[in-house]
Amino acid sequence: MHAPKVQACVALGANLGDALGTLQQALRELDTGAFGRVLRVSSFYRTAPLEAVGPHFINAVALMETQLSPLDLLHALQALEHKAGRERPYKNAPRTLDLDLIFHGECELSTPELTLPHPRWQARAFVLLPLSEVCPERVSAAMLAGVQHQDIERLSITHQTK
Ligand code: AMP
Repeated sequence: MHAPKVQACVALGANLGDALGTLQQALRELDTGAFGRVLRVSSFYRTAPLEAVGPHFINAVALMETQLSPLDLLHALQALEHKAGRERPYKNAPRTLDLDLIFHGECELSTPELTLPHPRWQARAFVLLPLSEVCPERVSAAMLAGVQHQDIERLSITHQTK
């Protein structure tokens, strides 16, 4: 029996090495079938570190269709972070690739390993702005107003799917 297809939102960020190249490679891998399929990719954004240190981040959000369970998808995303050379020397350290699961359908979960929706998604311009492009029904004007003081710039580069 096949698991049902669910729409999931993944936030991507990087602020070490070739951040844009890493995000583009991660987006290609998210679309290889092992994760499911990428339906939409937002613009890329450059953002100042928030609760973190180091250079500016490149961020984006992908809307996916997946048959993986929330936990299986989280583990697959963590394997991709690891492949990109992610290390966790200390909390909020600069990172080659950070993948956060923002939504998995309408799943609500609060476990030590996984919280859904992602606990801080409404507080972050680097999630809300790209999310408003790929999933506008999830983002309200009031949410956007709440993060308008944050330092974020939309880049003119777009993701080439193939
Ligand atoms: P970070 O080091 O910022 O990538 O945080 C990853 C940690 O947050 C991991 O230990 C995850 O198990 C946990 N976590 C909880 N909820 C989520 C979520 N929705 N997406 C990604 N990581 C999550």
